[in-house]
Amino acid sequence: MLTAVVGTNWGDEGKGRMVDLFAAEYDVVIRYQGGNNAGHTVINDRGKFILNLLPSGILSETTVNVMGNGMVIDIEHLGKEIASLTEKGVKITPENLKISDKAVICMPYHKLLDCLEEDRLGDAKFGSTRRGIAPVYSDKYMKKALRMGDLLDFDALSKKLVPLMEWKNLTVRDGYKHEAIKAEDMLNWLKEWGTPLIPHICDTTVYLNKAADEGKNIMFEAQLGALRDIDFGIYPYTSSSSTIAAYAPIGAGIPNRKLDEVIGITKAYSSCVGEGPFTCELFGEEGHELREAGGEYGAATGRPRRVGGFDVVASRYGAMVQGATSIALTKLDVLSYLDKIPVCVAYEIDGEIVHDFPTGERLNKAKPVYEYFDGFKTDITSARKLEDLPENAIKYIKYIEEQIKCKISYISVGPKREQYIKVD
Ligand code: GDP
Repeated sequence: MLTAVVGTNWGDEGKGRMVDLFAAEYDVVIRYQGGNNAGHTVINDRGKFILNLLPSGILSETTVNVMGNGMVIDIEHLGKEIASLTEKGVKITPENLKISDKAVICMPYHKLLDCLEEDRLGDAKFGSTRRGIAPVYSDKYMKKALRMGDLLDFDALSKKLVPLMEWKNLTVRDGYKHEAIKAEDMLNWLKEWGTPLIPHICDTTVYLNKAADEGKNIMFEAQLGALRDIDFGIYPYTSSSSTIAAYAPIGAGIPNRKLDEVIGITKAYSSCVGEGPFTCELFGEEGHELREAGGEYGAATGRPRRVGGFDVVASRYGAMVQGATSIALTKLDVLSYLDKIPVCVAYEIDGEIVHDFPTGERLNKAKPVYEYFDGFKTDITSARKLEDLPENAIKYIKYIEEQIKCKISYISVGPKREQYIKVD
């Protein structure tokens, strides 16, 4: 069984906790795109974990975790993430963590370039997480990137670095007038952080095909949601990678296999980090209360997230481009405090009511059309069956299900592993 677990919105839908919940049923969990520019927060009986790079299955003792070729990996960040988990008693070995030899290394100069460009842009900045993601993906497509497999031969790597740094300094030193990057410093950095990872580096295509042939349950874990996809998202306020499920087999290393199932993670309200159009945004006291109730601060950066009511237009589009076969609706409990639940039911563009998610300037001009649903005003964190929920909560769920045209199979009602409802 090949299952992708993906976000249908702007990211931060609570994918981490759902993957953590499902991980026990899967033999293999794979991250197939992105880098450490976002984070999953997982709370389970072993504590609270923030995972920026490692697949969420790392917390389940029997799961094999794969970092696929579609990823960009800051090896210093990965080394530190591994160390922090190891300190909390999580065992990480070459058997339970496999890193694709084709995954790209996110270098210190990628982070530097990200910062230099954001600073240059000033008020017009993109709201990048400054983790080097756009510069490193650009290098991948320029065919100037270093890959994890390069760490297996430091002699060959040191020869590659000299001309590579000459090229990079055309931008860093000559363009941005920053201090030049030295090939020697880069080699030392690669040796320091790369050496401990060597036992984990392998051909994940061979491993995953064998696992699929043996009938193993394989899960593909996305970072960031559909609206951050480089092609289908709110370009240019997207990530630099393909976040959608269709890319999962490619970014994981088994392009020859088809997904059996796509679980779309959708939050019961909306949140968005950084700049760009976010039509359903709520401001003032209404926004502040929702942000506090949902604890909407970035896992990777601590930045306050922009928040809004559930966005029917964006979520329907997100579920469609993901090809979701079912939906997990998360953080429903967060809405318990509301007398009236705000829902963005449509957009208005130049006086016209719009139900299909727009793009470009039309999206920039879109205004939300809000409707208010009766709140449920009850603590639902101990609900474990649909029948345990108040009537107004069930009405809200059914409405969302109808609007996004996809069955809701899971509802999460609290951050802990057991705080969820499975809908039959
Ligand atoms: P991700 O990147 O999609 O995993 O999203 P985040 O890192 O933003 O994680 C979502 C946050 O919400 C984390 O702090 C979770 O512990 C928390 N969370 C997840 N599910 C629920 C839920 O059902 N209820 C509440 N109250 N919190 C949740």
